Parts: sequence; structure tokens; C-alpha cells
Amino acid sequence: MGDAVQQFFAVKAKIAAAEREAGRETGAVTLVAVSKTFDAADIAPVIEAGQRVFGENRVQEAQGKWPALKEAFPDIELHLIGPLQSNKAREAVALFDVIETVDREKIAAELAKEIARQGRAPKLYVQVNTGSEPQKAGIEPRDAVAFVTRCRDVHGLAIEGLMCIPPADENPGPHFALLEKLAREAGVANLSMGMSGDYETAIAFGATSVRVGSAIFGSR
Ligand SMILES: *Cc1c(COP(=O)(O)O)cnc(C)c1O
Repeated sequence: MGDAVQQFFAVKAKIAAAEREAGRETGAVTLVAVSKTFDAADIAPVIEAGQRVFGENRVQEAQGKWPALKEAFPDIELHLIGPLQSNKAREAVALFDVIETVDREKIAAELAKEIARQGRAPKLYVQVNTGSEPQKAGIEPRDAVAFVTRCRDVHGLAIEGLMCIPPADENPGPHFALLEKLAREAGVANLSMGMSGDYETAIAFGATSVRVGSAIFGSR
């Protein structure tokens, strides 16, 4: 068994333990295996071990490896977890099953247009910049609830979740708690939060999906 497959099973076991510890149902948390920078040959063994949900942060990189993998494994669910430029909305809607990084009006408008044009509707999450970091994508926390409402009412987009990436040098707990509160206020069910270093904490704060890369595939 390769390293990635072994590490994948270890992460699955830790997710199950964190679910139990948090008093949550087994299987309540979806593992999004983040495969950015790794190629199809690295990813295939993890698919064969049973993983079906993957995350990529660049549209162009994903276009290079996922169409063939999705054809071989039609039940793959591919998440876009990196910033989306409006000129890439067409490609993103065509390839991804979940887009987690809706964070401004222009992207919402472009996605609505492409969804209508292609007749293909990825699930959409709004990214929230919980730490208000200037270099980071995401809507400001104070604007998040109104933005979700505008996505629905102005653009006709169903927003199914919120996503955040807490500041690297801070305790993530308060950021996860803030995202959970905003999701409740916005009437949104899913919470994408937690990465290799903090996914067990995120599960304790109510994550419904965790995005784990290096703990499975190794360092990039
Ligand atoms: C790369 C990435 C991850 C995975 O990070 P690891 O620390 O390797 O688990 C999660 N979320 C986003 C948005 C990323 O870009």
C-alpha cells in the first residue's frame, strides 16, 4: 500500500474519531482530498482505495488531469477551493461539481450566466474571509449574510455552504465558530472548514466537510 493510501486511511480514522468525540453522527463529515500539485498517477491509488471527493485550487491545473479521471470514475465529485476569476467561470462550471469560492457580485453574476447557458449547476459555497486578511480572498464577515441573500434573490443562485481559511498564525477555533454563526444567520447548511493542521478542531466546531491535502498526499 502506497504512502498516500495509508495516510488516506489514517485521516479517515481520525475523522471518524473526531465525529464520535464531538457527538456527531458517523459519516457526518465529508473528506475533500486536496490533490493540487499532484498528478493523476498520485491520485489514482487514492480513488481506488475508495475516495471520491477531491479539491483543486486552480481551474487550469484541474483541467489538465481531472477530465480523464472523471471519465474513468464517473462518481467523482470535484470541488474548486481556490479563487475564481470571472474569465474562468465557463471552464469552472463545466468541470467542477462544487465551487466553494464564490466571494463577489461579479463572480455570482458570471456563474449564474454560465449555469443558465450550460444547463449544468455545480453546488455553490460562499468563501468568507473570517480573519479580514487583505491578501486573502473571501467576502468580509459583516457582508456575508447579505451577500448570500443577494446570490439567491438577485442572481437566482442556491448557496449551499460557507467556506473559510483561517489566518495561518491564529487559533482557528474562533474563526470556525464565526463561520458556523454566519451560516446559521444566512440559513446555509454546509460548512467547509479545516485543513491538514486543524480538521479535527473544525469537526468539533461543526464542519460538514474538511479539505485535507498534505496529510494525505505529503508535502507540496
Ligand atoms: C491547499 C488547500 C487546502 C489543503 O491544505 P493542507 O494543509 O495541505 O491540508 C485546503 N484548503 C484550501 C483552500 C487550499 O488551498
